[in-house]
Amino acid sequence: MSDRAAPPTVPAIDTDAVVIGAGPAGLFQAFQLGLQGLGVHIVDALPHAGGQCAELYADKPIYDVPGIPVCTGRELVALLLKQLAPIKPQWHLHTQVQALETLADGRFLLTTTSGAQLRARCVFIAAGVGAFVPRTLKIEGIEAHLGRQLHYHPADADVSAGQQIVVHGGDEDAVAAALRCADAHPAANVTLLHRRDVFNAAPDLLARLQALRDSGRITVVAAQINGIEEQNGRLTALQLTDPQGAPQRLALDQLWVYLGISPRLGPISDWGLAMERKQLLVDTATFSTSQPGIYAVGDINHYAGKRRLILCAFHEATLAAFAAAELLSGAKVLLQYTTTSARLHAILGVEHPGAS
Ligand SMILES: Cc1cc2nc3c(=O)[nH]c(=O)nc-3n(C[C@H](O)[C@H](O)[C@H](O)COP(=O)(O)OP(=O)(O)OC[C@H]3O[C@@H](n4cnc5c(N)ncnc54)[C@H](O)[C@@H]3O)c2cc1C
Repeated sequence: MSDRAAPPTVPAIDTDAVVIGAGPAGLFQAFQLGLQGLGVHIVDALPHAGGQCAELYADKPIYDVPGIPVCTGRELVALLLKQLAPIKPQWHLHTQVQALETLADGRFLLTTTSGAQLRARCVFIAAGVGAFVPRTLKIEGIEAHLGRQLHYHPADADVSAGQQIVVHGGDEDAVAAALRCADAHPAANVTLLHRRDVFNAAPDLLARLQALRDSGRITVVAAQINGIEEQNGRLTALQLTDPQGAPQRLALDQLWVYLGISPRLGPISDWGLAMERKQLLVDTATFSTSQPGIYAVGDINHYAGKRRLILCAFHEATLAAFAAAELLSGAKVLLQYTTTSARLHAILGVEHPGAS
């Protein structure tokens, strides 16, 4: 995750469409925009596509996607990505859209946490229940060290020989990060800190953790953090309480925090769009929000009869893509079938000699 918003550093990128959110709604939205011949950028706070399917139920079965009797969340995401591949969207993962403003010429300027600016002719908000962002530590004074010694879900970080790296968390992400750190930085001291000496991870990861504990490469500390120590503006140690209630102290150079991911609606409610109970109101003929050119699909929208189901999101995304294509071209867009349209076959990169 990006730790904090960076000021824009590069010129704005021009595109037809930006899709905010790479859950099932956003992925299918990008596919439908591609069929309309529009260029698409996709932004998601997570480092991977899939939204709730990937984050909340990757290994659980889904039984109500038309034509797929059963698949897991992970499998559905893989199928959507395969379907989307010929469209070649531009990806901005691990990145949140922070600001959205309407420009004088009617286009939209989106600013992301990575400092990129995207200038789009239309925007599709497929933000689900909000951006999936890391849960933060609630310890007084600790946020001052964000991005320097404190990192939430880092993919990796600069680690010097002899540094004390404390990985905090008890789930699979935390265990995997501790193992990754011990493997990638053999000269660092790695501590896995969790309130109990019990970890929730796949058996192979737990077996590797035990092996690295046995060899002294990883130390496990069971304790809760209740304060920090600082010196000359640097974080020097964590104040802990162990399971017996005794105070402990853990020196450190870096703290990598893995306390899980939770959705946060974030800045969307500040974009001046009509909302009802944290959801964007849309016109069901076009899935336009109250701002022409900005559409909302999937769990983020609300209308009479709304059901938060994946198949409903697919319908919404299809109509939104048609509506945007008509708005941008100023002309009626004729329906073409993927079965028979030579134009759509060219977009999809498929050969079909009998096509019209
Ligand atoms: C346990 C569980 C089981 C379910 N089972 C089913 C089922 O069997 N059948 C079914 O039809 N539905 C099911 N659902 C519901 C289904 O998962 C949702 O309807 C679907 O995921 C909605 O898709 P979405 O793309 O709108 O939102 P999401 O899947 O929530 O994706 C939204 C994405 O937008 C990103 N995002 C949000 N804001 C920003 C921002 N500002 N910047 C960048 N990125 C942002 C988020 O990080 C997220 O990845 C289930 C849900 C749960 C929790």
